[in-house]
Amino acid sequence: MTTLTVPSTTPAATTSASPGRQALDSALFQLDQAADRLDLDDSLRNMLATPRRSLTVSVPVRREDGRMDVVQGFRVQHNTTRGPAKGGIRFHPRTDVHEVTALAMGMTWKCALAGIPYGGAKGGVSVDPASLSARELERVTRRYVNEVLPIIGPERDVPTPDVGTDERTMAWIMDTYSVNAGYPVPGVTIGGPVTPGGAPDRAGATSRGVRIAALRALDGSPEGRTVAIQGFGKVGAPAARYLADAGCLVVAVSDRTGAVIDRSGLDVDDLRAWSEETGGVRGYHRADALSREELLELDVDVLVPAAMEGAITEENATRIRAGLVVEGASSPTTPGADRVLADAGVTVVPDILANAGGVIVSYLEWLQDMQARSWSAREVDARLRGIVEDAFDTTATVAAECGITLRQAAHVIGVGRVAEAHRARELHS
Ligand code: NAD
Repeated sequence: MTTLTVPSTTPAATTSASPGRQALDSALFQLDQAADRLDLDDSLRNMLATPRRSLTVSVPVRREDGRMDVVQGFRVQHNTTRGPAKGGIRFHPRTDVHEVTALAMGMTWKCALAGIPYGGAKGGVSVDPASLSARELERVTRRYVNEVLPIIGPERDVPTPDVGTDERTMAWIMDTYSVNAGYPVPGVTIGGPVTPGGAPDRAGATSRGVRIAALRALDGSPEGRTVAIQGFGKVGAPAARYLADAGCLVVAVSDRTGAVIDRSGLDVDDLRAWSEETGGVRGYHRADALSREELLELDVDVLVPAAMEGAITEENATRIRAGLVVEGASSPTTPGADRVLADAGVTVVPDILANAGGVIVSYLEWLQDMQARSWSAREVDARLRGIVEDAFDTTATVAAECGITLRQAAHVIGVGRVAEAHRARELHS
């Protein structure tokens, strides 16, 4: 039997070199840069750098053989000044409180940049879901929910799927929360199955946003542009489909099992079927194999990192040949890599702009609920497109006016709007 991954570090013991700490350092660096440009004073800066609420919990898990293991879980609400918190829950062995805090902060700026009235949150459990049976996974999820229950809820903080979690996880969360409440509370999660409580248009929304942002960056001319995608999960796989639909040639895809390439264009649906059947893209018989590192360095028009943070580093950035990077993943590019790419003239559409589709469609669902009406999928898509394109254009304008990158501009706008909300509520005095 495989063993449950118990985190070897606690937040206090996490070294400055841990990936989570690096992610948080990057997030604080982006905030600092934006705060400098916005001329924010130290007290407001500190407020924005500090999560509003941060909960670390122990999650005991009874194993199939009767043993009891303990893993750590986290839920961080970074900022709720502009509205209730929203954010994914990830199950990953490397997850720690620093990583979750960094991701929650990114959610805050993302919602502000999109102009939607939510704050930023994130959650996580330091566990490898692939090492657990379905029943163990269910027990981990339900116990985690019981532990973070006091701070989540439809009006306070709504979890969504992220790395290592899916519709089924959301259904367990919704059910556990409802059992505790004593009545059904479908609004406690977004991204669950259509029944009970899930919304049909949410799946793929993040990837539709990736396509909209990519097309904007390509000046609306996607035909024949070659694309490589790192990560073939909930964001990467639908993004491949949508970009192919738009006329791009998706030539290479990677996941944790390996990478495949076909210069004449992959059959994305066939590859997805293969991946679902075999557990990954490795061994796909209608394409050639390449290494996961080589995928990032391919001579393509567009690179879409849609796996994990820190994929593009100062070291491998020098070998990136794509002219456009569209960040489907959260924080896939380190600040050092950002500098290298900017110097090389590579355009990077930052995560808080490129992968905002999911939270935007969550907001559109909430609007429909409030108005007791239902928009067609086409209407939802048109609104999503409008919001992402507006955010893109505003970001591009600020970037051009200030002579800064799209990432820096996106943070100036996002951080600026949250700072403004603090002032308007007189939270800062
Ligand atoms: P997922 O678990 O569904 O998919 C992750 C994919 O990355 C898998 O295909 C996995 O095999 C692959 N992967 C892992 N390590 C890899 C490596 N070293 N090289 C290549 N591939 C690797 O997760 P997801 O929900 O698709 O999330 C992916 C990223 O997008 C995360 O950064 C997440 O925070 C971000 N994101 C997700 C959503 C969403 O709606 N799911 C929304 C916004 C941002």
